[in-house]
Amino acid sequence: MGAMKDLVDLCQDLESRARNHEDIALFNKIQSLTLSLQSDHAEMLERDVRLIQENAELKKRLSEIQAEEIIIREGIEFRRGPRTLGEWLAFCPKCHLPAHQIRGNEWVQCTAVCGWQVKADLPRTLAIIGGMRTTAR
Ligand SMILES: [Zn+2]
Repeated sequence: MGAMKDLVDLCQDLESRARNHEDIALFNKIQSLTLSLQSDHAEMLERDVRLIQENAELKKRLSEIQAEEIIIREGIEFRRGPRTLGEWLAFCPKCHLPAHQIRGNEWVQCTAVCGWQVKADLPRTLAIIGGMRTTAR
């Protein structure tokens, strides 16, 4: 806003130095355009403030909607929430992407192949977690 005020002040200073009616008319036109810009700038600032507030509210709502329950058991991160359709699923505790266990293999591994793996019986652990009391929605 400081530049706008400086511009208005400069126009007023130039107007006081004007030598004829054409100069005064020209300075008045510049001053009018400057005031219009100042008004537009104020409106943009108000809109920015509204958008920043709206964005913060939307981020908060999105965070609430995406909130998940998380349990760490036997070295595996288990999550339940909207993206797992309310079911407990295994995730890599290192990179938080889904984990899986190939049938017949004793290792649970990260699907992103980040290198994380742990020996576990995933179906048995999921059955235990499914029977636990949690803060279900
Ligand atoms: Zn991983």
